[in-house]
Amino acid sequence: MHVLILGGTTEARALAGLLHGSGDVRVTSSLAGRVASPRLPAGEVRIGGFGGVDGLVDWIRAHAVDAVIDATHPFAERISFNAALAATTAHVPLLALRRPGWVPGDGDDWRSVASLDEAARALDGLGDRVFLTTGRMGLAAFADRPEWFLVRSVDAPDAPMPARTEILLDRGPFTLDDERQLIRHHRIDVLVTKDSGGAATAPKLTAAREAGLPVVVVRRPPVPEGVPTAATPEEAAAWVATR
Ligand code: NAP
Repeated sequence: MHVLILGGTTEARALAGLLHGSGDVRVTSSLAGRVASPRLPAGEVRIGGFGGVDGLVDWIRAHAVDAVIDATHPFAERISFNAALAATTAHVPLLALRRPGWVPGDGDDWRSVASLDEAARALDGLGDRVFLTTGRMGLAAFADRPEWFLVRSVDAPDAPMPARTEILLDRGPFTLDDERQLIRHHRIDVLVTKDSGGAATAPKLTAAREAGLPVVVVRRPPVPEGVPTAATPEEAAAWVATR
């Protein structure tokens, strides 16, 4: 059985490890190629876009893929949409592996927004020093903002970006102590994040709560209609086992 994992997440890597380790599944992980030196999963790896839905359908057929698992980031909307169309066209089963989103707790001051543009507008009146953790690709949405931004990303962002920006190149997981110190050191007034979910980047939310900071949280796009989901790599591996 040949399983194609659309990856780029911690969970995708864990799933590749589980399936590869089981010994009876051929697993290929696909990465978009956005990160300069990605952490590579176990099993076979291919890197780069497929060339839209048609390219993905061709790849599935040419490599005799029996099942596809979309384990991309919850905000990687286009590839998830492409995967849904391609799986239907190529008549292969598709599962979406999505780690659960974050839920506000007691003492959290979260402002839920639908997009990065809305997140930028939500900054009005929340302070001058913004900790922006939404990734380097969406910085243009904040380019016209007057605030000072601390932008944390894995690779250096390209312009356009806000005029007053400091870049912090780093990759999770992050500890609570580090996040506390970072918020203190940079005198952060407000945190902006996507609802990525998962433990690796959650400590910033705890640190923001402790510091009494508002958090602007960008909601997730929906999983394409009709696509079943699993919340953990183990659940996804169990789905493969039933095939
Ligand atoms: P996207 O907007 O949904 O996809 C844009 C295009 O990138 C797709 O049409 C596809 O090109 C290619 N692509 C995306 N994921 C791919 C994969 N796993 N394998 C092969 N091609 C892929 O994606 P994105 O938001 O730019 O994210 C790119 C990658 O980074 C994803 O794999 C995702 O898991 C990871 N990531 C994203 C975020 C985020 O916040 N968006 C955060 C962390 C990690 P073709 O149409 O040519 O096939």
